[in-house]
Amino acid sequence: MYLPLLGDYLFKRKKIQRIALLGVLFAASFLAWLLYRTVRFNNSITFLNVGEGDSILLVTQNGKSVLVDGGPSEEVLAGLGQVLPPLSNNIDVVIATHLHADHITGLLSVLLRYRVGLLLLPARQYDSPVAQGLTALANKRNIATRFIHRGDSIKVDDVNILTVWPDMTRDLSENINASALMFLVQSGVFRALLTSDVELGCNTATVLKEYVKEIGEVDVLKVPHQGSASSLCEDALMDLSPTIAVIPVGKNSYGHPAPNTLELLEALGVYIVRTDLDGNTTIWWKLGSRDWTMSHW
Ligand SMILES: [Zn+2]
Repeated sequence: MYLPLLGDYLFKRKKIQRIALLGVLFAASFLAWLLYRTVRFNNSITFLNVGEGDSILLVTQNGKSVLVDGGPSEEVLAGLGQVLPPLSNNIDVVIATHLHADHITGLLSVLLRYRVGLLLLPARQYDSPVAQGLTALANKRNIATRFIHRGDSIKVDDVNILTVWPDMTRDLSENINASALMFLVQSGVFRALLTSDVELGCNTATVLKEYVKEIGEVDVLKVPHQGSASSLCEDALMDLSPTIAVIPVGKNSYGHPAPNTLELLEALGVYIVRTDLDGNTTIWWKLGSRDWTMSHW
């Protein structure tokens, strides 16, 4: 071969080799990342840092997803993009625990951005522009919608999500927070209680006491209502005996989380996570064991 041409040929071959090597490295790190997320710890629950409001994402070992609330703004999309599998356009189930803006405004963006398989709404309805916007958008996008209450459950892979509140046979308070959806998430021996804004304070928990007792011990407690002063009572906390208490909270003028709530959790030795201080928080757990790990990001 003519020498200058040979040099050109060798240069091109090296370039192709370098590109191929980069491709292999990229594929290997992607696979390692997938393995880390799906094998080491099978399922995950992420408390997204969406400011003053709730947004919680469950992802199973097969990549199925359930989003509980969407926080007060479209900020939820940034967090979802980082937790859901790359290029994912689907969320299997979206739940609005109650129709207050700090829980459902972000869901409008979610319904526009993602293909949602099923939308679950509280059986007790509440008229507000945001709530009407959400149901109208669900209709427009042809999303199957169901209204749920105590006793209803859904199973996504091995994760069972049981609605423990509200009990529609009870004389429910007019307070929208008090009749929000509360869920017990169970997967193997792992248990998490997602309380939404249902306060379990000593004065407000009279009706709920028996339900909380029935739930028994949990690993993770989502502290009700951004850790408001009446969010927890010592009795309820002793019954639930959580290892971790997560308080999704942002800048606010309500004094959330309340000092008495933080003191109560500290006195009982519960590990406290706050999204305003710790950021987005993911807990992974292994099936069939109490092993879990947590990271803030
Ligand atoms: Zn609320």
